[in-house]
Amino acid sequence: MDRIAELDHRHLWHPFTQQRGWEREAPLVIERGQGTDLIAADGGRYIDGTSSLWCNVHGHRHPAIDAAIRDQLGRIAHSTMLGLTHEPAADLAARLVAIAPDGLSRVFYSDAGSTATEIALKMAFQYWRQRGGQHARRTSFVGLAGGYHGDTIGAVSVGGIDLFHGAYEPLLFAKRTVAPGDADALAGLLDRHGEETAAVIVEPLVQGAGGILIQPPGYLRRVRELCDEHDVLLICDEVATGFGRTGTMFACELEGVAPDLLCLGKGLTNGYLPLAATLATERLYDGFLGEPEEHRTFFHGHTFTGNPLACAAAIASLDVFERERTLERLRPKISRLAELLADIAAMDEVAEVRTLGFMTGIDLGEHDPALRLGHRVTLEARRRGAIVRPLGDTVVLMPPLAISIRDLERLVAITAASIGAAVAATRPAGLRGLPAGGGRPAAGRAAA
Ligand SMILES: *Cc1c(COP(=O)(O)O)cnc(C)c1O
Repeated sequence: MDRIAELDHRHLWHPFTQQRGWEREAPLVIERGQGTDLIAADGGRYIDGTSSLWCNVHGHRHPAIDAAIRDQLGRIAHSTMLGLTHEPAADLAARLVAIAPDGLSRVFYSDAGSTATEIALKMAFQYWRQRGGQHARRTSFVGLAGGYHGDTIGAVSVGGIDLFHGAYEPLLFAKRTVAPGDADALAGLLDRHGEETAAVIVEPLVQGAGGILIQPPGYLRRVRELCDEHDVLLICDEVATGFGRTGTMFACELEGVAPDLLCLGKGLTNGYLPLAATLATERLYDGFLGEPEEHRTFFHGHTFTGNPLACAAAIASLDVFERERTLERLRPKISRLAELLADIAAMDEVAEVRTLGFMTGIDLGEHDPALRLGHRVTLEARRRGAIVRPLGDTVVLMPPLAISIRDLERLVAITAASIGAAVAATRPAGLRGLPAGGGRPAAGRAAA
């Protein structure tokens, strides 16, 4: 085994990874990127089908973004936002406010999607506390089943994925969960508990980590109306959906909704550097104003909050959106993807395809988890020249918005072939060659 693999196996601990399985496989060592490709240490070239975990937008080593970072590096790599300010942070804040849904006028930086949601939760909580009187009773949150908002404890508290969050139950603050897409359920819950609720937090339109779950049209707008009726704050976590993923700059736009708090991360710096932002309305911001001794200050901040290199990358990425007309050029790619996915949905091995914009989940149905079918698809895709990563047995396609139509077609073709090969390999020898029917429970049993 080569040096990197050996050191990795000896010393590293990977995120969301069962290390026992990891240690049994030779790791793929990525050395370079070029456009929407990843290039491995052994020279192998792969389509970046996950956008390096949902964050790359315009491709790797984009000349304009690389140059902006180098330029900032020539001034300073980091200086603090505690007691000081700097041009990239101020410029980026103005740019974000200009493109964000109406009413969001204040930008609070942090360095990960988890911290962006953590900050939104703390802001909402403290806002009501400082309003005082009846409002101080607004101490609880409402989240959606299947929701994902990050891995810090506050974010986990409002999450709704039992596999990820269940084990921490005793550590978490209480929240109420409603089924996504069911506005009547939320209406009922807010009728009963609206006066105790600080905020409703949702991933607008698409729940990503929950398995690419799509909400019905009109749902988000109803959620906004219900929050307004009950004077409850709405937090939209656009860490995954932001920066063009669903076809518009922000998913909220598709429903004409403006939240009270908006969480951004992942695509903000074109996936280059760790930067996140929580945008708030002026009403929320005003709730924190006072004399220092009143202690209405938002006592929260991270060492690398508003890092200048990251802000410079984010500004450059927004420039590229304009210069390359990224969203306009995305439209025909979304249409082509939809056509290609119709063929995938017709495959016997596929139970359901869920897609919106450039977020796609190909659900292979119920299978014995020990088969690790999703993981097998990943390995098959790698042999064919693409990096994909599943959520359980749902294969996720989330390529950079900049991918060419040709590479998009190649990515989907590789995925289809990989699903076919992976399902075939899990079937007992005697059954091979029979129609797969992987999505149906019967096939799941045959596979086991
Ligand atoms: C990825 C994600 C997060 C967490 O972001 P990190 O940068 O990994 O902390 C939060 N919310 C959503 C919707 C996400 O997809």
